Amino acid sequence: MKRRPIVAGNWKMNGTQEQAAAITHQILTSLPQNSQVEVVLCPPHTILGKVGDLLKGKAVLLGAQNAHWEPKGAYTGEISAPMLKDLGCRYCIVGHSERRQLFGETDASVRKRLRAVLDHGLTGILCVGETLEQRQQGKTWAVIQAQLQAALEGVESARAAAQMVIAYEPVWAIGTGQNATAAQAQEVHSQIRRWLAGRFGTAQADSIRIQYGGSVKPENTADLMAQPDVDGALVGGASLEPAAFLSIIASTAQAKETPCSTASS
Ligand code: PEP
Repeated sequence: MKRRPIVAGNWKMNGTQEQAAAITHQILTSLPQNSQVEVVLCPPHTILGKVGDLLKGKAVLLGAQNAHWEPKGAYTGEISAPMLKDLGCRYCIVGHSERRQLFGETDASVRKRLRAVLDHGLTGILCVGETLEQRQQGKTWAVIQAQLQAALEGVESARAAAQMVIAYEPVWAIGTGQNATAAQAQEVHSQIRRWLAGRFGTAQADSIRIQYGGSVKPENTADLMAQPDVDGALVGGASLEPAAFLSIIASTAQAKETPCSTASS
């Protein structure tokens, strides 16, 4: 099955309003009109409105980096899925390893956040991935399987097919400059797809996109995207540099044989 490639930029905790406008403008002006790659920008909450306004009516979609499970209430510092919807978000990252490692996110809270994201009509980008220690101990698949199982508990097949993207992000590759090799990524992506087929059915698994994330750069995109089960990228650091991000999009399009090249601005 042909899946539409998806490249999402996770800006993490970066960007003033001015910087956000400059990055978004550069991406919008240089992205080819007919890009077959779905492009998503996930800025921090403070500039979602600003970036959302700039993306209105454009092909690039807005995403958030996190959402609380309750729709509203006394949860100081949190943002809910309906609030994100209200700002025009279409996507929301859930269970990023920085949230799991630095902010005490657990499999149980990831499941609740994902459920809220889906219930409010957003598409979830569910992040899974192993640490270096877990990989060295041969536990990579056991860890990822457990994360998938916990996060997707209770999610119906139709919903998974329509509203889910999985991001395989080995923790040791995030922000380190050391990406997984194309073979390492493909091995885990194919295991994820097999697991999805067992959980949701083959047709659904074939339609769910699995992104790779972890030090994706223009130089390594072509190799990674040439893998049959790698359907795009979740890009951190390089998504803040418009030229690099555009180059990643163009390489993704080329690797997936879709008509797209970076237009000169
Ligand atoms: C990320 O934050 O999801 C990520 C993959 O970061 P980086 O591309 O900087 O490794």
